[in-house]
Amino acid sequence: MKKKTIRNKKSPKYIFVVGGVMSGVGKGITSASIGTVLQSKGFSVSIMKADPYLNVDAGTMNPTEHGEVFVLDSGLETDQDMGNYERFLNKSMPAVNYMTNGMVFKYVIDKERALGYKGACVEPTFHITEEILRRISESVAEMNPDIMIVEVGGTVGEYQNAIFLEAARQLKIKHPKDVLFVMVSFLPVPSKLGEMKTKPTQNAVRQLNSYGISPDIIVARSETPLDAKRKEKIAGMCGMSHENVISAPDIDSIYDVPINFDNDKAGQKILEHFGLKPKHKDLIEWRAMVSRIKHSKSTVKIAVVGKYFDTGDFVLSDAYISVIEAMKISAGSLSVKAELTWINSKDFESGKKKISILKNFDGVLVPGGFGESGVEGKIKAIRYARENKIPYFGLCYGMQLIVVEYARHVLSLSDAHTTEIRPKTTNPVIDILPEQKVNLKEGKYGATMRLGAYDAIIHLDTIAHDAYGIFLKKKDKLKKNINRNIIVSERHRHRYEVNPEYVEMLKKGGLVFSGTSPSGVLMEIAELPKKEHPFFLGVQFHPEFLARPLSPHPLFTAFIQAAINRKKKG
Ligand code: GLN
Repeated sequence: MKKKTIRNKKSPKYIFVVGGVMSGVGKGITSASIGTVLQSKGFSVSIMKADPYLNVDAGTMNPTEHGEVFVLDSGLETDQDMGNYERFLNKSMPAVNYMTNGMVFKYVIDKERALGYKGACVEPTFHITEEILRRISESVAEMNPDIMIVEVGGTVGEYQNAIFLEAARQLKIKHPKDVLFVMVSFLPVPSKLGEMKTKPTQNAVRQLNSYGISPDIIVARSETPLDAKRKEKIAGMCGMSHENVISAPDIDSIYDVPINFDNDKAGQKILEHFGLKPKHKDLIEWRAMVSRIKHSKSTVKIAVVGKYFDTGDFVLSDAYISVIEAMKISAGSLSVKAELTWINSKDFESGKKKISILKNFDGVLVPGGFGESGVEGKIKAIRYARENKIPYFGLCYGMQLIVVEYARHVLSLSDAHTTEIRPKTTNPVIDILPEQKVNLKEGKYGATMRLGAYDAIIHLDTIAHDAYGIFLKKKDKLKKNINRNIIVSERHRHRYEVNPEYVEMLKKGGLVFSGTSPSGVLMEIAELPKKEHPFFLGVQFHPEFLARPLSPHPLFTAFIQAAINRKKKG
């Protein structure tokens, strides 16, 4: 009998990243960047997020309020920071790397209801903290990292995240030498004073002290770099060496942050704290990628036609962050910059914007979405891109609407629609997945869509096959060759699908389904024949969730390449 190999379980080092003064100053990017730097020094790194919300996951949160819902391979719907971790570490994170207060409390309360605590009085400390620590150790067991980074959402001093801080304090008591605290704080420069103020940070540290925690490192976020005087002041008032105050000024590209940290020797300081020595020191690949993105001079203009743009620029970039990064990354890999213009599809409906403005773009993209608002505008944009041979890329809803548009205007099924919007249409070309009917009927909305990684077969002689074949790095795990078709694994988040009853008719009418589920039942990619259009393709999945700076997504790269070709033709 074969012996089971037992993995050599090691005890990791822990880094808790907490926020001071205010939220939104880049704790996620800081956590991810610390991870990138430590990984480049030869250590395996895993990153978890502890979110203070009572939502059990991020799936039910509105993207205009909370930003993008990021989906893991497992199908867990999470905060967008998980996307940053995956992009910066270039690896997928398991479900256990994301927890919310809701998830933790639900688990404990369900266990209590099932007499799991055998009649004990169940309390926030110790039972909630015990559950938080159990999740951290479960993640350690799954990832076996040298260094486990845990980002605590929110800001020190809020009631909401206090329980996570208490759990962290308990871990530090248990492993005093193996736990390090990083506080990401903000240093304002009030315009009337013109001077950078350290007091809010000092107060935030005092707040953290009141939980029994002292920061070992302060990452000082500010508009401009910190001068020596401010570093000394923070160090003196917060009881640390000035070398442990890292200056983190605003920068153009988030991908610069690991480079700045490395230049500031942040990685080295962390390793010294743990008594570890770098195994190798390079960010070579990362630096090359950043330089390519930065030094690309030529641009391609992409119109992103969507609807979550109602509350101004700040929100829209958060609602589509993975789509934006995927385009930036692929453009960089082709040595161009993607200049994105956000077009509210409702403006095409009201006439506020003429559809013909799309001819000024090198590519049109319709991202994922839900509900009725702006749909007819999106369909107009798709029709225009199809008829005028402008490269078009549709993500999820953007693929379903290709099918609606094609059915209406090429197959002349003028009332064709998705039943998400017209449940009673006589031509339901997009219809609810059979298993989803029950969920909606019973009002089960949370975590019930078709979620996470599923395989898709990419058929030969199609745009999709060319794209995966040309742009997919050989070492990439996405690719397996079976009879020259390619099998890819992509992440999903949808309730509706191409209605199987219309597939033959659509195919006969000229639409190509170049990607299908292995069973052949679900249509995963729709495209136009290569001869007819330079690039007209929609995917039922979300390729943006797998686009990473060091492994750009082939379909985004192929789309940007098509945009470059259009620009060259003039
Ligand atoms: N609303 C569509 C569905 O549920 C598309 C979802 C999406 O774009 N993520 O199937």
